[in-house]
Amino acid sequence: MITRSLVTLTLAVFGIALMAPSDLAAQARAPVYWDVHDTDRPTPPVVDPGPAPTEPAPPPADAVVLLGDDLSAWTHSDGSPVEWSMQNGVAEVVPGTGGIRTKQSFGDVQLHVEWASPAEVQHDGQDRGNSGVFLMGRYEVQVLDSYENTTYADGQAAALYGQYPPLVNASRQPGEWQTYDIIFHRPHFDANGHMVQPARFTVFHNGILVQDNVKLTGPTAHQNRPPYEAHPDALPIQLQDHSSPVQFRNIWLRELE
Ligand code: MG
Repeated sequence: MITRSLVTLTLAVFGIALMAPSDLAAQARAPVYWDVHDTDRPTPPVVDPGPAPTEPAPPPADAVVLLGDDLSAWTHSDGSPVEWSMQNGVAEVVPGTGGIRTKQSFGDVQLHVEWASPAEVQHDGQDRGNSGVFLMGRYEVQVLDSYENTTYADGQAAALYGQYPPLVNASRQPGEWQTYDIIFHRPHFDANGHMVQPARFTVFHNGILVQDNVKLTGPTAHQNRPPYEAHPDALPIQLQDHSSPVQFRNIWLRELE
């Protein structure tokens, strides 16, 4: 709220009249314009993405398959064997076992993820079907049951958590399979560890553009927007255990570097 007031005041003083409408729209999308999890931030319009595919889409020939028939590409964050359930190509979070990460490390990727929130709806807001896809273990594309479930805009499904709400809410009903297609470019750091290129995301939710080449302010976090800290050029991808039995299937990526 304070941040937005300051930005509005600054714009008023330094000539908001000079800005084109598209600049204003971009400004209103910028994380700096809003406090983290600002409940005044508008929630995006709902767009019905159409029916869920009955079968997982086959990975392309050059894909690295991360989740096919088993969880052999994954470990828990501490390196221990995965305790999530796995049946018929579907992995399910076992609440309390912790998040999982890929054994392999990645930088720039095109990442395909299919997920479903629990068909039986329990709880509200952030406690309904919450998980997350963390690029490099730091930059979260939120997974949440956002079908008729209100929460802060920068925390709903397909948000870049705490920074960018999706352009639209393309959520399917709980229990239905949904897709994320994510294009991620890692941040770059100079020899002194200073960020010289921020992380960038483009995301499609159920085939609909929801993040259009946006630049992160730093790692995603709860109630916080921490600055960048230098890290390796490749790191594991993580899936979150947020106490909801969310399901995943058919996860693959193409390396872009
Ligand atoms: Mg989450």
